[in-house]
Amino acid sequence: MQRGLAHPSLSHAVLEFVRRRHGFLIGGKWSDAESGSTLDVEDPGTGELLTRVAAGDAFDVDRAVRAARAAFDTGPWRRITPAERGKLLWKLADLVNDHADELAQLESLDNGKPVVFARAVDVLSSVEMLRYYAGWPTKLTGETIDVSVPGEWHAYSTREPIGVVGQIVPWNYPLGMAIWKIAPALAAGCTIVLKPAEQTPLTALRLGELILEAGFPPGVVNIVTGEGETAGAALAAHPHVDKVAFTGSTEVGKLVVKAALGNMKRVSLELGGKSPVIVFPDADIQKVAPALARAAFFNTGQVCSAGTRFYVHEHIYDELVDHVYAEVRGWKIGYGLDADTKMGPLISAAQRARVTSYVEAARDDGATVLGGAPSEAKQGYFVTPAILKNTRPTMSVVREEIFGPVLCAMSFRDNEIDRLAAVANDTSYGLAASIWTRDLSVAHKLARRIRAGSVGVNVHSVPDPALPFGGFRQSGWGRERGREALELYTEVKSVAVNLD
Ligand code: NAD
Repeated sequence: MQRGLAHPSLSHAVLEFVRRRHGFLIGGKWSDAESGSTLDVEDPGTGELLTRVAAGDAFDVDRAVRAARAAFDTGPWRRITPAERGKLLWKLADLVNDHADELAQLESLDNGKPVVFARAVDVLSSVEMLRYYAGWPTKLTGETIDVSVPGEWHAYSTREPIGVVGQIVPWNYPLGMAIWKIAPALAAGCTIVLKPAEQTPLTALRLGELILEAGFPPGVVNIVTGEGETAGAALAAHPHVDKVAFTGSTEVGKLVVKAALGNMKRVSLELGGKSPVIVFPDADIQKVAPALARAAFFNTGQVCSAGTRFYVHEHIYDELVDHVYAEVRGWKIGYGLDADTKMGPLISAAQRARVTSYVEAARDDGATVLGGAPSEAKQGYFVTPAILKNTRPTMSVVREEIFGPVLCAMSFRDNEIDRLAAVANDTSYGLAASIWTRDLSVAHKLARRIRAGSVGVNVHSVPDPALPFGGFRQSGWGRERGREALELYTEVKSVAVNLD
């Protein structure tokens, strides 16, 4: 079967887009990097060059920030009504929906993920996210406040857009993560400079075309592709950016915080995780095994909220692990554009080296490894999923985020809630967790004690736009999705009028 741009399923629209010249979207127009530099974009399923995009530096970021600044300070955007902002978001949702097949193919080509999931998950959840936030501009209100100082007063608060926002996103859900950021920022009335991940810029660039087609005024959304250390760092440090929203590793998140200090811009962070999955002995093994396999291995384990630390009651431990392993072994590992592929490659050679080195270190340290064999594929960055038994809490494979299909399966003996919570919380992260039991009292008690931004009961994660998502501790600052995301993109002002 042919791969890459020769794959028989690829539509004319996708081929034509990939072969196009890829510049930045700045002030409503497409332009090249001032330096003329480009970045190679690779197909992770073959390791071959797909295309090139412009590589931005501080100069290009400055141009984009100026365009966003002008659009915010003096453009028509600030004068259009909330209802009009909502209609533009809805129009963009329709356009993304109309181009769902094309965007899914492009995402699969660029990121390696199975095209069926790119369409059903990445693209369709992006449409839902845009539609959810399309309803919000007309509902952003302040309040009137009774003050107690002497005299007669009319006092009220307003919620205003924060201004120009820099948004930096990762490669694991390139379109989805861009939409999670763009939709609430536009609903709030901000203007944007988006920097996609250097590995996966293509769907963001296609989205830029759809944003223009939807009719957003020039400069409202600007897109600069480029490396993190150049374009990303310049955006985080830029003195005319009012807020930076970052999704990526905890390590880079800390750099973003430092860079933002210069003008004390607002910062929100969606970072890494090492999420626990706690399975009680009353769980229905046959029923939960497929969901547990997805919790750990979906998207080749490249999911920030992936459930990668399993704690399973000893009475069902062996049977459950066998079922999860059997489930994931049934997934076809293959090229993302093949319709029957259930697991694609990792994003890059570096990521594959990282994943395999964690598995080897654990093996050397005494872990028993199910799976994890080198992939037989001659091309691309494929690995096979690994389940690690006999790990210890101090091992790096248990403590650190790997961002690949590696699951540590551990057992517990008694159901003592506080002890289980302590084990689940024994991490520097706090993004997600799940609890699998039919006993609602146990589930609620444990959910209260777990220090994580999302807790699922008999589900690992629920991708609903209305549910806030984000991390405790080193998993981040702030919450995306839901009403909470609007707070990330607004400032509250209080106005007090002396009526005397
Ligand atoms: P990364 O931190 O290396 O890169 C993320 C983005 O930051 C990219 O666009 C990159 O170009 C940019 N960047 C890199 N260095 C920068 C710098 N010095 N200044 C500014 N920007 C810079 O992360 P990654 O490897 O692309 O993604 C994987 C990580 O993202 C994982 O740790 C994962 O948990 C996390 N993630 C978190 C969430 C969440 O919602 N919590 C979602 C997806 C991914």
